[in-house]
Amino acid sequence: MKITEVVITPIAVPDLPLVNTKGVQQPVFLRSVIEFKTDIGLVGLGESYGAERTLVGLRKVAPTLIGLDPFDLHGLRQRVETALPEGGGINAPTMLTDHKLTDVVYSAFEIPCLDLIGKKTGRRVCDLLGGAVRNEIRFGGYLFYKFAKLNLDYGPDMFGEVMTPDALVEQAKFFVAEHGFQSLKLKGGVLEPDLEIETLRKLRETFPDHNLRIDPMGAWTVPTAKYVIDELDGILEYLEDPCRGMDAMAELANITDVPLATNLVVVELEQVFEAITKGAVKIILGDHHYWCGATGAVRLNHVCKAANLGLSMHSNSHLGISLAAMCHLGAASPQLTYDCDTHYPWSTKEIVKGGRRSFNEGKLRVPDGPGLGVELDHDALSELSDLYEHAMVTDRDDTDEMLKYRPNYIRKVPRW
Ligand SMILES: [Mg+2]
Repeated sequence: MKITEVVITPIAVPDLPLVNTKGVQQPVFLRSVIEFKTDIGLVGLGESYGAERTLVGLRKVAPTLIGLDPFDLHGLRQRVETALPEGGGINAPTMLTDHKLTDVVYSAFEIPCLDLIGKKTGRRVCDLLGGAVRNEIRFGGYLFYKFAKLNLDYGPDMFGEVMTPDALVEQAKFFVAEHGFQSLKLKGGVLEPDLEIETLRKLRETFPDHNLRIDPMGAWTVPTAKYVIDELDGILEYLEDPCRGMDAMAELANITDVPLATNLVVVELEQVFEAITKGAVKIILGDHHYWCGATGAVRLNHVCKAANLGLSMHSNSHLGISLAAMCHLGAASPQLTYDCDTHYPWSTKEIVKGGRRSFNEGKLRVPDGPGLGVELDHDALSELSDLYEHAMVTDRDDTDEMLKYRPNYIRKVPRW
């Protein structure tokens, strides 16, 4: 089996003004959809980021993959590194962390290879990753403060404005009723810390048995984070990226017993060792989009086990190809003991045949396969590809978007 053609389709998907500490999400989020065509007629699918830097990297590497055997993952890595000798990151300067372009491009192209291997051998991707230790993956509800949507050109709003503790609890009630989530994560660092403390206390009153987390994305100084922890005594399952940077995380970790989790200070293997040496985090969020594909994200399991760290799963806004890959990775991740993050319920679009998947008590069954077990809906793809052409958004910039809602906004991390 050889790759004969690589098709990369950037798409724009209607999004909502979900607020975070660096700004607010734009009217669309961007993804790239990848198809590997082969000499035996099989097609492998992948989905990755769709912003400019990622697309440039994908397009530089794509022509060098012609003739590659999808089983040859080391060959894939070599071709990625040869085509991108300058390396570089993928993220805009307004983001809070960066990922190596080579890791992101390898990750984006590994999934269609695994999909092809699975289709060729009649096996699920999770079987290729060491086998399924579970067949249902547990996801948590991802809660956001949000503005009422200003621009309705690309799709309707959900919930209107959610900028108070009570409104946030109503949003959580909806997600729990609709999807059955048993864990809830609040994207924090948006309101004054006392209001976010009040939000979590009200969530605890409403959901006495749910696992609760907050992720302020580095918005707090160490003393502020310690204050929040003391006020939320016994409420948090874990606290994700309360402070900005490895040293601030380590300083906080030394004065609290609440487990600190991260998808900002540990995003590649080299940083695991620094985090362990400094005692900065107890839990790492894996993600097959940048931890060197699904095979790299499985290797992270072994690293976490050896280092006595917990493993959770990170999410960006995504659609069904990524969701299928997340399910296969979750199935093949023995160290994964926390419910996975997903932005999926915030979107209403889908690009795979059969349409949107439904959570059952917060869980999804791993697709049957072979491969990822999803097929591309080309009509749906071309609708979102058209939106990409019309929306005129080629990069993510939450800070710039925030100025449309709050003209005097100044980005500041940490803010409190
Ligand atoms: Mg995070």
